[in-house]
Amino acid sequence: MVYLKTDEEVELLRKANLLVGKTLAELAKVIKPGVTTKQLDVIAEEFIRDNGAIPTFKGFPNPYGPEFPASICTSVNHQVVHGIPGDVCLKDGDIVSIDCGVKLDGYCGDSCYTFEVGQVSDEIKKFLSVTKESLYKGIEQAIVGHRIGDISYAVQTHCEAQGYGVVREFVGHGIGKEMHEDPQVPNYGKRGNGILLKNGLCIAIEPMITMGAIDIYMQQDMWGIITRDSKPAAHFEHSVCVRKGKADILSSFEEIEKVLREKSL
Ligand code: MG
Ligand code: MG
Repeated sequence: MVYLKTDEEVELLRKANLLVGKTLAELAKVIKPGVTTKQLDVIAEEFIRDNGAIPTFKGFPNPYGPEFPASICTSVNHQVVHGIPGDVCLKDGDIVSIDCGVKLDGYCGDSCYTFEVGQVSDEIKKFLSVTKESLYKGIEQAIVGHRIGDISYAVQTHCEAQGYGVVREFVGHGIGKEMHEDPQVPNYGKRGNGILLKNGLCIAIEPMITMGAIDIYMQQDMWGIITRDSKPAAHFEHSVCVRKGKADILSSFEEIEKVLREKSL
């Protein structure tokens, strides 16, 4: 069942999503070679709780194994999604996708950004910028009268045109009082397919893109997902509402990118 949101609900979703953006910006400040992903998790959880919210990932159920033990997913290099924070030390040239979810006043925020650690190669820089561009190509399609497939097609064609792969097993989703609601929002598909987009539809659009082949494995912790060819993967996510006919981005990379600009000076 797809729940269309009222304007009031959309503003609550925006508040939750802006907190996710602020949390990721706090992490952006400290991401550098030598930091462990566990340290990032500790900072994120404290920041989320200090702001009166709950980290929705913590304790997230898993049909295959243990609940998710942390407040963020930290997926490093060839990890695609759902990396569990731990003793892994970030190194110069790595990339780390940080996916963060919160619940604030009963509504969920969900957004992800892939960060560079120290100096990464030009090849990786291009890969990250194409993946991020594909997110915005998808968002451009999130307007009244279009269908989910228009979003999917836009993401897929943008990434595949550069020779990158689109992961099939994980998809975007509706968002509201629950982090994962209907409909599913695949990153691959055909134009004109899927449900019609209406005002009040709130969805997380989240390209999960590989530099090489799209085949993936689940790690033994029953959470982390890695590429089989060990090539890097990237993940960018915004929560978006179709509102007044257009795409209204509820999450924000503004604070994150402000921090990244300041760090590069
Ligand atoms: Mg997410
Ligand atoms: Mg999501």
